[in-house]
Amino acid sequence: MENSNGYALWQKLLDTASIAVFGVFIMLLLWSAVESYAAAAATVESVGLRITVLALLAWVSADFVSGLVHFLADNFGSPQTPVFGKVFIHAFREHHVDAKAITRHSFIETNGANCLVSLPPLFYIFATTTATDDYWLRTYTALFLLGIFLTNQIHKWSHMDAPPRFVSALQDIHLILPRAHHAVHHTAPHDKYYCITCGWLNWPLQKLQFFQFLKKLLS
Ligand SMILES: [Zn+2]
Ligand SMILES: [Zn+2]
Repeated sequence: MENSNGYALWQKLLDTASIAVFGVFIMLLLWSAVESYAAAAATVESVGLRITVLALLAWVSADFVSGLVHFLADNFGSPQTPVFGKVFIHAFREHHVDAKAITRHSFIETNGANCLVSLPPLFYIFATTTATDDYWLRTYTALFLLGIFLTNQIHKWSHMDAPPRFVSALQDIHLILPRAHHAVHHTAPHDKYYCITCGWLNWPLQKLQFFQFLKKLLS
């Protein structure tokens, strides 16, 4: 059973379950870390400074991963590959043909895939670290995966003609992907500016010819 844009019922169920499980485990991970700050008796200032640094690091690394995954899905593999192709590759390929389609996707369709792909690292960190010893690693992981979670929503906003006012404000100060900045990727041949979280890495990676080099390496 599919709706008009090819979004099947099994995908909707999978996306809904992924978002729900992701939400629960991210909260558990964050909560375990926050409890440990208190137990470690660190000062508010030192905790605040560390969280700020980790948040910046998480934001930039989520931007990098968004670019890498986007680059791979645009250039390699087939949208017909079962599950993986349908969930990830199809979405990016469709996006160059009809860039506005993403603005018609529901919250679930927009954000399900990124939650699904975040579950293995989330479970891994949860199972292999402890709140008492690894609370900074847990904090970074939670912030990084929240960045990944926000990425497709931010990408969707960058294609909307009239995003919510607070979103326009964040785009204007370039804290999240601005519309004009992302439009560079949508100019044929779609071979640069792949990063879609905040886009901070697009300029330096283009200067370094990073994705052009990676494509030669992998082709
Ligand atoms: Zn693309
Ligand atoms: Zn786009």
